[in-house]
Amino acid sequence: MRPRSVQVSEAQPGNEATGSGQDLGSVVSPGVSSSAFRVAPVSPVEQRLYDVQRSVLYGSADADRPVTVEQVCALAQRHGAGSISVVVDNDGLDPFGAVATPAERVLRFHEGALTLWIAIHEVAHLLPEVGVGHGPAFVSAMAGLLDSECGGSCGDRFRAGLISHAVPRLPARRDKGVFVLEVAGQFVAAKKSVGVGHATDASRMFSRSAAARAADRAQRRLCREVHVVQLA
Ligand SMILES: [Zn+2]
Repeated sequence: MRPRSVQVSEAQPGNEATGSGQDLGSVVSPGVSSSAFRVAPVSPVEQRLYDVQRSVLYGSADADRPVTVEQVCALAQRHGAGSISVVVDNDGLDPFGAVATPAERVLRFHEGALTLWIAIHEVAHLLPEVGVGHGPAFVSAMAGLLDSECGGSCGDRFRAGLISHAVPRLPARRDKGVFVLEVAGQFVAAKKSVGVGHATDASRMFSRSAAARAADRAQRRLCREVHVVQLA
């Protein structure tokens, strides 16, 4: 048994989010034994990532195609993850499940999860600059891997998906204020019309300091607290 402190992560292909939306406690696939793997809870940030993956990668010809174990190893080597082990585990994982164990340099897949975009998701966890979780470093690395392995239009679709999924999920009530969002290392100021829920209501910024200045301006103009929300 692996130590409980081992960090793992889970790819969440299309059919996972329905369940995880109800079960707030875990990202684990139903077949994964929680006694063997420590499981992080699904945060709102992670839920958005899973929603975006499902809508722009799952079923797409450029990203959702079968890969072999050897191709996953080669992909990891090409992108600086070094030498890794890839294990097919049809008993311990559900049919769309995959788990990265960065400390051990191991990726485990159900054979049904051996697809390019799931491999990219899991390999991203093994990159030295990423580590655990699905924060800005993760989604930026994943977008870059999609650019490289699936084509720039795929990476762009992923980035656009992060933004378009982010904005409609903001609180719709106007009195909830203005939010400055960070998406994949970029910053989006969503103005009070955000209740309409279109990404066109947002303006992009490209640095944390610019986002902070925008938040400050909005706060003074509206006499209302402005939150800086990190999305992914
Ligand atoms: Zn993950």
